[in-house]
Amino acid sequence: MEKGQKLYEGKAKILYATADPDLVIQYFKDDATAFNAKKKGTVDQKGVINNKISTKIFEFLKSQGIPTHFEKHLSDREMLVKRVEIVAVEVIIRNRAAGSLCRLLGIEEGRKMVSPILEFCYKRDDLGDPLINEDHIYALELATREEIEDIKKYTLKINELMSKFFAKLNLELIDFKLEFGRYKGKIILADEISPDTCRLWEIGTGKKLDKDRFRHDLGNIEEAYNEVLSRVSQ
Ligand code: UDP
Repeated sequence: MEKGQKLYEGKAKILYATADPDLVIQYFKDDATAFNAKKKGTVDQKGVINNKISTKIFEFLKSQGIPTHFEKHLSDREMLVKRVEIVAVEVIIRNRAAGSLCRLLGIEEGRKMVSPILEFCYKRDDLGDPLINEDHIYALELATREEIEDIKKYTLKINELMSKFFAKLNLELIDFKLEFGRYKGKIILADEISPDTCRLWEIGTGKKLDKDRFRHDLGNIEEAYNEVLSRVSQ
């Protein structure tokens, strides 16, 4: 599949058109950003590693009946995906407290949530992706009620599936972010799932194997991402 015109460049990925109007190529870069892009850097090989990890996870979710944009892994940094209209809402699920939830509620990192927390954020870089609720979504017509029902149903199912998937690899899924898109009138899972978008702690040691190593300058980022890749490749 030949890369066509560049359609969009984001912080970690670029989208290219293909000869098929329903398909695009998602290209993974090594660029990393955190704290609403106030912190910027690059992590050697991150794009290659995240493309592989995301491929494994999307293949797994697809095999479990979750509708996704994933078509196939094309090359080191390229994945073929369905062309969707991205819903302007990021969906976050939290199983333990970390990151912005600790800041929001003044609770300690690692606190187990009695039940998973599902949050929505408005996808607006200029506003720092603010936390919003369902009323904001309907009032701004970011998505319909039916779409949000589907998004919540898929997100909770994905949390169950991925929590078990990672637990078998001795990793605890602390939290993660999903993005959904519209494709031929249906909601499907889009974007990527990788240590850039999930928090993963090694069971037993609590070692962080995710983007917190970049956010907080913990070092050995590439090694941590490779560790996740080698486990999901088992
Ligand atoms: N997350 C993401 N993209 C974002 C914001 C968050 O992938 O734009 C992920 C993040 O990696 C973590 C989860 O969503 O796994 C919850 O992030 P949090 O709100 O705690 O973000 P922080 O404030 O720590 O960046």
